[in-house]
Amino acid sequence: MHVVICGGGVIGACTAYFLSRRGLDVSVVERAEVAAAASGKAGGFLALDWCAGTPLDALARRSFALHADLQKEVGADWSYRRMSAYSGVVVGNHSAHRHKPAELDWLSDGVIITSRLGTPETTAIVPPRTFTAAMMTAAQARGARLYTGRVTGLARSPDGASVRGVEVDGGIIEADAVVIAMGPWSVLAAQWMSLPPVYGLQSPSLVYNTGDDVPADALFLEFHDDDSDGAVSIELFPRGDGTTHVTAFSDQAPLPLDPAAVAPDASAIDRLQAIAERLSPAFRADRIVARQSCFRPVTQDGLPLIGAVPGSKAAYIATGHSVWGILNAPATGEAMAELIADGAARSTDLAPFDPNRLRALDPSLLRSG
Ligand SMILES: Cc1cc2nc3c(=O)[nH]c(=O)nc-3n(C[C@H](O)[C@H](O)[C@H](O)COP(=O)(O)OP(=O)(O)OC[C@H]3O[C@@H](n4cnc5c(N)ncnc54)[C@H](O)[C@@H]3O)c2cc1C
Repeated sequence: MHVVICGGGVIGACTAYFLSRRGLDVSVVERAEVAAAASGKAGGFLALDWCAGTPLDALARRSFALHADLQKEVGADWSYRRMSAYSGVVVGNHSAHRHKPAELDWLSDGVIITSRLGTPETTAIVPPRTFTAAMMTAAQARGARLYTGRVTGLARSPDGASVRGVEVDGGIIEADAVVIAMGPWSVLAAQWMSLPPVYGLQSPSLVYNTGDDVPADALFLEFHDDDSDGAVSIELFPRGDGTTHVTAFSDQAPLPLDPAAVAPDASAIDRLQAIAERLSPAFRADRIVARQSCFRPVTQDGLPLIGAVPGSKAAYIATGHSVWGILNAPATGEAMAELIADGAARSTDLAPFDPNRLRALDPSLLRSG
């Protein structure tokens, strides 16, 4: 059985890995490069139980457990590490009293820690680009092929009922099953099949080379500036590879048709950099190694689309993971492999993520591209 996966982000890479682990013949078609989009630009933060009480809980718990084992199973080191997580506030008045555990002394005085959100038992992190690339390499080591090319449509059986392949740059790659995993660009597949809309929410981020200066504590801070109204939520993710990812703000900027054309807004980056510099001397401008932005894929009800595409035999979709795509990729890949190979997922119940739960997008609303 030959499965073609459209998209080489974290979802495509993990699906390729688990399918090839099952012995299936797998091809991945990626338009730019592996982890070119959000999967290479995310924080990489993982949490065991932060989706408790939501339909994502089982997927997240299974994924958290898989993340803990995958380095050993794959035989590669992508700097997975356990960490703590704290919430806090940043106040403009730098003479504010300090309420910080000693291990957070590296933070400037205006940063006040208010509570502990996670412990090394419940929170962890991976550098997402390295993780995604390693999962793709592990799939390739088991026989998966990676093609650089743009998916522009699907080939169908003569009666139109089944998907039989993928159109790539004017040619066809034949397939017994096709998985759409193009992140927010999965919306393009609504031109080819009956699928609910997928949107892209953009966030800028900075990556600093902080070495050992920033301890393994994720921080979720409310930034209150004397000069502006309201608060900004800012997130800091120190990673095992010596980089720290800093992000804030989300907006609904238009999604460029070409993933390689995603570029950060200069003023958002300047603002983020100014906030980071208020947090700690560790965030010096000369330590910035990436100024970037990315679009996370979101759906109308905030839950991913994982499962068979209604009305198109042999077609599947896995996208819409929003802020938890790096966390939830392994369990998504594992369940997709079971669904495609065995006809049903058993490791995680995919019922809450059935694409059929949402109304399909009217394809005439899409720009052509
Ligand atoms: C700032 C930020 C921080 C985040 N932090 C975290 C975090 O800490 N933890 C967490 O769990 N999640 C986090 N996320 C969410 C996570 O990054 C996403 O949910 C996840 O990366 C989505 O992966 P994906 O594979 O679905 O999509 P993508 O990463 O978007 O990959 C889709 C791929 O498809 C390719 N493609 C597009 N069109 C075509 C085409 N026509 N043909 C072929 N290929 C195509 C693209 O080039 C791209 O490589 C964050 C997101 C953002 C924006």
